[in-house]
Amino acid sequence: MNIHEYQAKQLFQHYHIPIPEGKQATMPEQAGAIAQSLGGEGWVVKAQVHAGGRGKVGGVKLAKTSGEVAGFTRAMLGTRLVTAQTDAVGLPVHSVLVEKTYPIKRELYLSLVLDRGTERLIFIASAAGGMDIEAVAHDAPEKILTVSVHPAAGLQGYQCRKVAYALGLSGTQHKAIAAIMQGMYSLFLAKDASQIEINPLIETDGGDLLALDAKINFDDNAVALHPDILAMKDSAQEDDKENEAQQFGLNYITLDGNIGCMVNGAGLAMATMDLVKLKGGLPANFLDVGGGTNVEKVCEAFKLILSDGNVKAVLVNIFGGIVKCDVIALGILEAIKQVHVAVPVVVRLEGTNVEEGRALLSDTGLGIYAADDLAHAAEQVVALAEAVA
Ligand code: GDP
Ligand code: MN
Repeated sequence: MNIHEYQAKQLFQHYHIPIPEGKQATMPEQAGAIAQSLGGEGWVVKAQVHAGGRGKVGGVKLAKTSGEVAGFTRAMLGTRLVTAQTDAVGLPVHSVLVEKTYPIKRELYLSLVLDRGTERLIFIASAAGGMDIEAVAHDAPEKILTVSVHPAAGLQGYQCRKVAYALGLSGTQHKAIAAIMQGMYSLFLAKDASQIEINPLIETDGGDLLALDAKINFDDNAVALHPDILAMKDSAQEDDKENEAQQFGLNYITLDGNIGCMVNGAGLAMATMDLVKLKGGLPANFLDVGGGTNVEKVCEAFKLILSDGNVKAVLVNIFGGIVKCDVIALGILEAIKQVHVAVPVVVRLEGTNVEEGRALLSDTGLGIYAADDLAHAAEQVVALAEAVA
């Protein structure tokens, strides 16, 4: 799960990670008033969307007067921001963050992520922070330091010093960076994060370190344990189809292809997508309808898949373990009738009562192709999608 920058900064504050003074606003006049109450020489207005890369597309504006703050806010609110990290439609801007600006001496990079390979949390640090960290990682990987934290030992003082040296910090700043790293580490563990990124972490002319940007992702499988985090969820920033799927207990992720996939079980769904690709097709989605599926769920699943205009054919791959194949077949028939499915549907059933299930799906006149094995089913659906396209 993602949260907004202003929310991430509230969490930073609780964990003693220094942030610029600022406040979220949802109205232009309110934004202007916030600037006035913050005081100072200038302010930054930052569009709040669940994506980075805002600086390069006008989502981060520097203002000299509170009138300018209100003006930039008015211009941003109600628009959609398209950045290198969003799709072509972009994300809606419903609020902005107004902050005091600080004289920036250097922009650094610091993040904490789970490294699945070593099964440890690692800090990633670079003195070349700012807007192009991906390019740095690609072109000059030697400018990036990683520090791996042993889960039993926890974050060690020498590891903080290593990062301090890599970032070119002076002796007096070592304490500050250690406190920031400890704050990130505590926050990560306490809230089951999967990533905390500060880009840029700035050094001001006065030598202070401040988290100018803040990005936190949380582990979806743990977020139910943290009502405070769940309360920060902003569904407007997420894919409509994925939100709808969640309501029906379906695991759905939109992809770019034209072959809709409906599968029970995440592992089988992945294997099915692999096979579709192997046979020359591209899946339009990942969809796990769950183990104990029913007619209602299958109907919703069809609706979701077909609401994607790119879908030219659907592959249903269900293993009847908990639910019997004949029950599933009836569900599919009912769903196809209810949802008025107009594209060809290839169905591969396996498991208990498979013969009865296949018999129910044959000769229906509904554009259903009953396949007897998965490889064949994948071939068939790819051919059908190509014939339509
Ligand atoms: P992102 O592009 O979505 O990652 O947004 P950031 O919050 O990282 O802002 C992008 C860039 O805007 C930063 O790298 C800074 O160069 C600049 N920026 C952001 N906030 C301030 C600020 O308070 N003062 C100044 N001078 N520049 C800022
Ligand atoms: Mn940034």
